[in-house]
Amino acid sequence: MGKIVNQNNESKSALFPTYARYPISLVKGQGSWLWDDQGNKYLDFMSGLAVTNLGHAPEKVKEKLKEQLDELWHVSNLFQIPNQEKAATLMTTISSGDAVFFCNSGAEANEAAIKLARRYHQKVKGTDRHEVITFNQSFHGRTLATLTATGQDKVKDGFLPLPAGFKTVPLHDLDALKAAITDQTAAIMMEMVLAEGGVLVAQAEFVKAVAELCKQEGLLLIIDEVQTGMGRTGKWFAHEHYGIEPDIFTVAKGIASGFPAGAMLGKEYLREAFTPGSHATTFGGTPLATAAIIATIETMKEDGIPERVAKMSEYLFAKLNENLKDNPFIKEIRGLGLLVGIECVEPIASIILEGQQRGLLFVNAGPNVIRLLPNLNVTEQEIDQAMSILADLIQEHTNVKTV
Ligand SMILES: *Cc1c(COP(=O)(O)O)cnc(C)c1O
Repeated sequence: MGKIVNQNNESKSALFPTYARYPISLVKGQGSWLWDDQGNKYLDFMSGLAVTNLGHAPEKVKEKLKEQLDELWHVSNLFQIPNQEKAATLMTTISSGDAVFFCNSGAEANEAAIKLARRYHQKVKGTDRHEVITFNQSFHGRTLATLTATGQDKVKDGFLPLPAGFKTVPLHDLDALKAAITDQTAAIMMEMVLAEGGVLVAQAEFVKAVAELCKQEGLLLIIDEVQTGMGRTGKWFAHEHYGIEPDIFTVAKGIASGFPAGAMLGKEYLREAFTPGSHATTFGGTPLATAAIIATIETMKEDGIPERVAKMSEYLFAKLNENLKDNPFIKEIRGLGLLVGIECVEPIASIILEGQQRGLLFVNAGPNVIRLLPNLNVTEQEIDQAMSILADLIQEHTNVKTV
């Protein structure tokens, strides 16, 4: 963890200390590259935590945003918003979702999903079902409801009492899941890759069994695609790898290339559960935000991003296996698409800092897992550059351990 410093390297900041910030101030970005205020250049293999998926300042999105800046930034959702309609239509054409609610973040999208599930059972089905079952190690956000849904104790510390109506069970334990279902259960919510929880890829049979169970029991299946969505895993949405269609799924992070935006998508039969006034958010789907979403999706379609990611992922995994697989410091290399976890035998916080000093930015996923999130336009050459830095860093740590 870096020490907390502000822009001027003073030890006191006017901010709440909710982040252990690295002592680097990034001031410019282009494609896979970032520059700090000292003129140092970095190869970005974290993409603002799976946000800048087209790289920094992608040309087509930038142009579209500039045009929209000249026209109109914000109007209330009490009016027609053509960009919002268009963004929603685009999202439903690239996915199995039929109706879209726009918001501003992943937590807010998951909050909307939880509310929709409750409201569907209570208003459409006329039951009092309300519980949501989630999994250990999951991450669903930082609002009170979504941190309660999150299967990690560290996000709950000091925030009691937590809202009622949530249960967490171990991943890949179908019996525990079945045992947790009652006549109060409304939905099961899960990630296809538990990204924050250590880049744990959900097993196919388990996911299929969960989808089947939801059908049998009349529960809604909510897939949290906030980190895995929009091409990151080599499909538009990670649940496509599993051949399932969720009732509800959520996106945020990468959907607008860095402009803050989120969305919840639901199946047609859920549409009537929300009525005017039942759910809202001031900034959801503004003309400016949805211009960024439209430009992001159109660019991804034109450039065949999901297919590109699938190919580049093969290249990245081949390189990782070639360079690191037999290294005793490495326990496992796993992931889906360009969401990669390298589990090490020891904490990797110092390796992150050493990477920064050598011009490579990446993050962790839990104490022992190196997480790589290159942008989805990353080149083979950039992967080679990152690989050579990473292989050196890990080799040095291996050497330290063996002498
Ligand atoms: C980041 C993330 C969230 C929370 O998104 P915010 O935009 O930070 O609220 C929720 N779920 C998953 C899987 C995430 O990766």
